[in-house]
Amino acid sequence: MIIDGKKFARKLKLKIKKEIQSIKKKTRLTPGLTVILIGNHAPSEIYVRNKAISAKEVGINSKVLRFKNSISETKLISVIQKLNKDKKVHGILVQLPLPDHIHGHKIIEEIDPRKDVDGFHPINVGNLSSGKDSLISCTPLGCYLMIKSIRKNLSGLNALMIGRSNLNGKPMVQLLLKEDCTVTIGHSKTKNLKELCKKADIVVVAAGRANLVKGDWIKKGAIVIDVGINRVKKKNGYKIIGDVEFKSVVKKTKAITPVPGGVGPVTIACLLNNTLKAFKNINYLSSK
Ligand code: NAP
Repeated sequence: MIIDGKKFARKLKLKIKKEIQSIKKKTRLTPGLTVILIGNHAPSEIYVRNKAISAKEVGINSKVLRFKNSISETKLISVIQKLNKDKKVHGILVQLPLPDHIHGHKIIEEIDPRKDVDGFHPINVGNLSSGKDSLISCTPLGCYLMIKSIRKNLSGLNALMIGRSNLNGKPMVQLLLKEDCTVTIGHSKTKNLKELCKKADIVVVAAGRANLVKGDWIKKGAIVIDVGINRVKKKNGYKIIGDVEFKSVVKKTKAITPVPGGVGPVTIACLLNNTLKAFKNINYLSSK
């Protein structure tokens, strides 16, 4: 089975839209998301545009604040502090990467953890690792939801997470642990990655290495989630491929996400989900 990320995201967005409509009727309140975009990094421009379009689709008020690359750290912090106090803003997202003179961790720590819809604030990271309710990094959250849509009970399964970034690998590991998987983490220094992979019932790959995982690495019937986005040359131009050699791997799997059209669209839907969650938490509205 090939997991259709676009279809999955559409379903999730519809659910979010309906819930927002019903909350609006009862409370006359609308969730608000503000994205801070610094400089003119082309891929970031595209991501931010897609986020704004998707937010509008589900009824979230979204705003993009644009700043020049030269913005000072102090100025950026004061912008965030203002947004923290703004009652109409429930989600704050600072689009990465940031210019070199700005310390990413300092900026993220300034965001009110209740509004940290990227799930990067140390309080959210800590809450996730201690099994408490938290805002969770959007990409791993999307991967988790897709895995759960394939198999509800993951207890006792062997899961391999390839990649240990704060953005993807580490939060994904926490989500799999919470489901009682036996989790192994692979990274660039792991010696026997293929052998570890062959034992895994669930493989999530976020390494940023084109075609790293091959068909003969995969246990029959495994669930494979490919987070990787790699731009590779083709005859005329470029194409985007994942970290999994799709053609050889697909034959072995119970379910697999393609690249493009797998994890990417679901990531954006999870950002909207996080904004709705933040909005409900801030306004003491119960979760459905
Ligand atoms: P990252 O911060 O560069 O981390 C990559 C991880 O992969 C590191 O832990 C690294 O190990 C490990 N790694 C690198 N080469 C490896 C190899 N040959 N074997 C095993 N492990 C290896 O990357 P990231 O931010 O997590 O992103 C990973 C990929 O996901 C990128 O392609 C990115 O574009 C994509 N991505 C996609 C989405 C989406 O929505 N679809 C969202 C975010 C990111 P070390 O720790 O030892 O260096």
